[in-house]
Amino acid sequence: MSKSGDKAEAGDLVEIVDDGDDAAVPAGLASWRVLIVDDEREVHSATLFALKGLIVAGRPLAFLHAYSAAEARGIMGSTPDVAVVLLDVVMEKGDAGLQLVRTIRDEFGCVDTRIILRTGQPGYAPELDVIRDYDINDYKTKSELTRTRLVTSLTTAIRSYEQIRMVLESERGMDGIVRSAPSLHAQHDLKGFAKAALQQVVMLLGTPAHGVFCARREAGGETNDEPPYFVAAAWGCYAGETDRDIDAVRNPELIEMLARCRRPGGQLLESNALSLCLGEGDSRALLHVRVDRPLNDLQRRLVDVLAVSIAVGLENVVLFRQLRSYAYFEPLCHLPNRANFISQIDLRLQRGETDWTASVVDIDHFSDINAALGHQTGDQLLKAVARRLRDGLQDEVVLARVSGGTFGLLGRDGALDPEQVIALFAQPFVVDGQSLMIQPCLGLEKLSEAEGTGADVFKNANIALSRARVDRRDRWQYFTRDMQVATQQRLGLLHDLRHAAEAKRGLSLHYQPQVDIAQGLVTGAEALMRWTNDRGESVPPYRFIPVAEYSHLIIELGEWVLCSACGQLREWDRAGLDGLRMSVNVSPAQFRDPGFVDMARRCILDSGIDPARIELEVTESMALTETESVVATLHKMRQFGVSIAVDDFGSGFSSLGHLLQLPLNRLKIDRVFVSDLAAGSSGSTIAEMIVKLGKMLGLSVIAEGVETSEQLDALREMGCQEIQGFYFSPPVPAGEFAALLKKKLYR
Ligand code: C2E
Ligand code: MG
Ligand code: MG
Repeated sequence: MSKSGDKAEAGDLVEIVDDGDDAAVPAGLASWRVLIVDDEREVHSATLFALKGLIVAGRPLAFLHAYSAAEARGIMGSTPDVAVVLLDVVMEKGDAGLQLVRTIRDEFGCVDTRIILRTGQPGYAPELDVIRDYDINDYKTKSELTRTRLVTSLTTAIRSYEQIRMVLESERGMDGIVRSAPSLHAQHDLKGFAKAALQQVVMLLGTPAHGVFCARREAGGETNDEPPYFVAAAWGCYAGETDRDIDAVRNPELIEMLARCRRPGGQLLESNALSLCLGEGDSRALLHVRVDRPLNDLQRRLVDVLAVSIAVGLENVVLFRQLRSYAYFEPLCHLPNRANFISQIDLRLQRGETDWTASVVDIDHFSDINAALGHQTGDQLLKAVARRLRDGLQDEVVLARVSGGTFGLLGRDGALDPEQVIALFAQPFVVDGQSLMIQPCLGLEKLSEAEGTGADVFKNANIALSRARVDRRDRWQYFTRDMQVATQQRLGLLHDLRHAAEAKRGLSLHYQPQVDIAQGLVTGAEALMRWTNDRGESVPPYRFIPVAEYSHLIIELGEWVLCSACGQLREWDRAGLDGLRMSVNVSPAQFRDPGFVDMARRCILDSGIDPARIELEVTESMALTETESVVATLHKMRQFGVSIAVDDFGSGFSSLGHLLQLPLNRLKIDRVFVSDLAAGSSGSTIAEMIVKLGKMLGLSVIAEGVETSEQLDALREMGCQEIQGFYFSPPVPAGEFAALLKKKLYR
C-alpha cells in the first residue's frame, strides 16, 4: 500500500477510500478507484494536481498510489474495482510496467480495469501486439500528458471501464439466472422453491439483503375462499416471520410493503427496496427485498428477468402441488385418500412407531342412503361424519377417507378406542333438514402386531371390518391372524363357488323332514343346500353360505334352490308323496334384491305348486333389523300365498311389537334352546317361552335340532307342534326321502 507520507502529500486532493465494507458496494456507487503507479513522486503529485476535483459520470475519483511494480501488484491483488491504472512503463526494470500489465490481466484476471501506459522516453514504447493483447487503453509519453489530455484520457478510460463492467455484470447476472433456472425449476415443494427463489434474488443483488417470498396457501377444506398468502421463505431481518399468514406478520413495515405490492400493477421499485407481485391466481406470489444501497438500472433489469423465471417456476410448483393433491387427497372432504392413508401407516412403520393403531370405519348401508336420498345428501352426510370424527378425536389422529362411505383413522393406541368412535355416532346427523341415524362398523389393527407394509395393515383392518359387519355384536373387531387365513380360504372358496354356481356343478339339495309331534307324521321338508367342490370335498354350508351371502352369489344360488325345491315337490306329488310342505331358506341379501318377489313367484308358478305349500325361512336378525322394504316384501309374499317362518328364533329376541308387524306363520326354535332341554328339566325354559309366545300370536312353532327322545318329550309337553332334527332324520338326498314317510316318530 502507499506510504502514509504519500497520503499526506496528496493532501486534500486525495481521498483514498479504503474501508473494507466498500468491497461490497456495486461498481462505482461511491467513487472511481484510480491507481497511480510511478517511481517518481513528482508524477504522483502532478497527476493529483491535474485531476483535482474531477467528476466523471457523477462520481469523484479516489486515488491509490504505488511507487514500484511490486507495490502495485500488492494493491491490485487486494483491492477490487480499480477502474484505471496510470502506469509508468519503466520502473525497477525497463519492462517492469509491462510485466505488471501481464500480471493484472493474466494472474488477477482483471479484464475490466483500464490501463493507461506512461513513459518518459518514446523509445520505451511497447510493441503494438502488446497493446492489443493486454488490452491497453492508451499510451502516452509523460510530456504529452498535459492536464487537458490527462483528463480526456482518464474520462474515456473510466467510461469504457463502466461499460465493460455493465456488460460483465449483466452477463454474470444473466448467467446466474440461466444457471439457477434448472435448480429453481426442479423444486417441487413450495417452501423449498420460495427459499431458492429468494436466494437467487439476494445473490443477484449482491448486497446484504432482507426479504420475504409470500405465496398462497394450498386450497382445501370446505370453503371456496381464496387461500391466504403466507410467508413461504424469509431472509435476513424477516427470518422470524417464516410460515406466518401475512395477516399475522409482526413487522409493520413489511405489512405495509406487502399491502402495497398486492394492489393492481403491484410492482414497486424504490431506492432501496424492490417489491414484486408475480404470477396469476393460485400461483401468485409477493416478493419483497430490502437492500442497504440503491439498486442500479442493471440490477433492476436483471431482477425483472429473474422475476419472469421465478413466476414460471412457481407455476410449476403450484401445478405439482395440485397434482399431488389430486393424488393424495379426496376432493369431497379434502381428507387424505387411501394412498395417503397407507403411506401414513408406512411412515409410522418405518419409524418403528408401533404404539399406533390403524382403523377403517364404515357407515352401514351408505350406498343405500345414497340411492334413497340422492348423492347430494350422501355427500353432505359424509362431510358431517368427517366433521364429527375430526371434532371427536385428538388432533394427532390422522383422519382419511379411504372409499365411498369408509373413513380411515390412524392414532396412538390410547387415542383410538373403538367404543369411543362408535359413541360419536350416538346422536343423529342432521343433513338437509333430515335427521339421519347411522351406525358405524370398525376394523382395526395395531401396528405393534402388524407384519408387512402399510398396504397390508390397511388390508387387515378391512378384513377385521368385514368380520365386524358379519358378527354385529360389538360392531368392531381387531384383526387376528386367524382372520387372514380364513380370508384367504374364503377367497379361494368364493372362486370355486362361483364356478360351481355358473355350471350348476357339484350343487345339490338335501331334505330334512319336519314331523308333527301329535300325529308322528312327516308334514314337510326343509331344503338344505349341499356343495361338493371340484376336488371332491363336500363343503359345509356354514362355510360357503356366508361367502355366498357376502358376495351376493346367494341371489343366483337362492333362485336355483327355490326352483329346484319346487320341482322336487312336484316330483314327489307325482310319485304319490303328496301334500308335503317345502321350507326354503332365504338370506337377507336375497330379500334386498329388488327382483326377489318376481323371481319367487315365477319359480313357484312355473312348477305348478300351490304357493301355500311353500314356506320361506327368514332369519330373526333380518326380521328384526331390516327396513320397511323388507317388511313390504314379506307382505307381498304372504299375499301371494306362501307362508313365512322365522328361523333360529330366540337368539335375537325380537321385540314383541316388531314381531306383530310382520306377516308370520311360524317360529322355529333355535337349536341352542333345544339342546338346553335336558331330561326332566323343569321350570320355565326359553323354548317354553317361545312356544307360549307362538300361541299368543297365533303362530305355529317348530323346534329344530332335536336329537334325543328327552328333548322330544319336553317339547311335546310344552305344546310345541313340530320337530326337525337328527332324532328323526338328518337331511337326506331326495331319493331317500320317500322311505322316511313310512318311519315312525315313536318307536
Ligand atoms: P338352518 O336353516 O337353521 O338349517 C338347519 C341346520 O341344522 C342344517 O344345517 C341341518 O343339517 C342342521 N341340523 C338339523 N338337525 C340337526 C340336529 O339334530 N343337530 C344338529 N346339530 N344340527 C341339525 P346345514 O344343512 O349345515 O345348514 C346350515 C345353515 O345353512 C342353515 O341353517 C341355513 O341357515 C343355511 N342354509 C342351508 N341351505 C341354505 C340355502 O339353500 N339357502 C340359504 N339362504 N341358507 C341355507
Ligand atoms: Mg332353516
Ligand atoms: Mg335354523
